[in-house]
Order: sequence, then structure tokens, then C-alpha cells
Amino acid sequence: MSGRYAPSPSGALHLGNLRTALLAWLQARLADQPLILRMEDLDLPRVKPGSNEQILKDLRWLGLDWDQGPGIGGPCAPYEQSARNPQYQQAFQQLLDNDLIYPCYCSRKDIQQAASAPHTHEHGPIYPGTCRDPVKRAAIKQRHPDKTTAWRYRVPSRTIEFEDRIIGHISQSLNREVGDFVIKRADGLFAYQLAVVVDDGVMGITDVVRGADLLDSTARQIELFEALSYPIPNFWHVPMMLDDSGARLSKRDGADSLEVWQQQGKSAEAVVGYLAFTAGLIAEERTISTLELVQGLTLDLLRDKLINHPSGQYVLYHAL
Ligand code: GLU
Repeated sequence: MSGRYAPSPSGALHLGNLRTALLAWLQARLADQPLILRMEDLDLPRVKPGSNEQILKDLRWLGLDWDQGPGIGGPCAPYEQSARNPQYQQAFQQLLDNDLIYPCYCSRKDIQQAASAPHTHEHGPIYPGTCRDPVKRAAIKQRHPDKTTAWRYRVPSRTIEFEDRIIGHISQSLNREVGDFVIKRADGLFAYQLAVVVDDGVMGITDVVRGADLLDSTARQIELFEALSYPIPNFWHVPMMLDDSGARLSKRDGADSLEVWQQQGKSAEAVVGYLAFTAGLIAEERTISTLELVQGLTLDLLRDKLINHPSGQYVLYHAL
């Protein structure tokens, strides 16, 4: 049994990321299970120098600790995705051996132009499946002789159903709503969907607490957990923190950065109080430490409070 928090070091964490970190930490502490911290620095070009260290510093400053991960180590080391390529390669080989993936030579333009790609989801048009067919694949390859290969997962005609611990029943059709998705990118990097499943599987994660923006990825990940014979964890998709205009916070804006709050002289307890209050965990905004917060909650209470979160943060879910 273990939980995890898996930030991407593409910049300092904003208050929304920190609120998710607090909730993942609370879930693990209240369930009395270890918390693993994992750095999702797979996409090295997007990694911002220094943000790795900054993230560790900010989490510690708030009073959040972890049982395995950077600075501590543990049985599943390394805890940085950039150092876990052998594990991803092994899983990739397993999918290849089971004929669950195929090479794809389509350009973005090919996909957009395909008449049979009427649907889109959050990440662009649904892949029309062109390279599934070896004959069409050969033709596409000929058109782009220099293009390196991406690899796609051959989704079955299947609807994935699961019970999110916060959002409730979710159902998503892999073939109609997702399409064959990328497992390894044309630039040679393994895709987030593969890496996250391998890491959660190898690390024995039982509870995935993360932002609701990843709800749309979960059906794909459940399919991969099964294909790679890993147990499927519980998912807790927690509300996103929105700005005054109702938009999701972005690392780029820098407005809701911890640094600004620290410069204003706010204490860690004041920030934790704000995060807990906006997550609906405490009735009014006040200073509170992470330990006091744990003492005042149970796992069921945490869940109930998140389920009954007052704001309209679930808007995103309707996109599904
Ligand atoms: N690395 C992702 C992020 O920072 C989270 C991925 C996950 O929790 O599955 O948004």
C-alpha cells in the first residue's frame, strides 16, 4: 500500500500544485501508508534548471515529507523518470512482444487531414488508425522517408469503467473517445502514459491522488496497467485550483507562486491554511500546520470533504 506525489519539474510548483501535494500527503498519512515522491522529468527539454531542488524545498517548507524519493532513496530508486529508461524499455518490449503496439509514421498534418478523424479529445484529433494497416503504413512511410517512428498502442473496442474515489463512476470508450495513443514519441522519448503506469506499477502504488486534469488519461492508463499485468490503483482526482476568472492556474503566469506569498511574509501555516480552506477541509481560512490538519481528519472525512467541495471545479469533467 502506498501513495505518491509526482510533480513535473518544469518550473516551481504553484499553489494549485501544492494543494494537490497536500492532498496526496494527507491521503497517505491518513491511510497510514508510505508516500513516494517521484520527479516526472521525462521530458528533459521542458525541465527548468533548479526547479527540482526548488520543489523539494517548497514541499519541506510547507511541512510535507515523503518516505521514499529524492534525497531519501528507497527500494524503487531511482525516483527520477529521466533515470528510469530501462524499466520503460522493458515494458515497451513486453507490449511489442504481445503485438499491442505498432509503429506510426503519420505527421500531425496527416492526422488532421484524415477524413475519418471527426472527433477530437483534449489532446487533439483522435488518431484515425492509418498505420494500424501495414499497407497504408508503408505508403505513409514512403511519403516521409526521413521521419522517425512513433509507436502507438492498439486500443481494443472497449469501454473502461472505474470508480474514482472523489468523482465517482467514470466510463470512457477507448476506441471512440481516445483512439490509438502514443507510447513512444517520434523523438525517442517514452510517453507520459507509459512511464506513469510503469512507475506506479513497479512502485506498487495503490492510491493515485492527482489533479482532475488527468482524469482524461485514466482509462488509457487502466488499459496499460492490465496489459502489463500490474494491479490497478485507486484514483482520487482532486479539484483543480482555479484563478478568479475560472481558469486553471499555470506555472507560466507565476501569479500564484509560493515565492510571492513568502515575500509577503506569510508563514507555512498560513499557506497550508489557505490550501486547506480552498480545498474545503477547514471551515474558515486560518493558520494551521500540516500535522494539525492530519489530527483533525480521517480518511473518510477527507474524502467526504473533497466530494462535497463547494466550488464549480468539476467543470472540466464534463469534457469527458
Ligand atoms: N507529472 C504530472 C503533473 O505534474 C502528474 C502526473 C500524475 O500524477 O499522474 O501534472
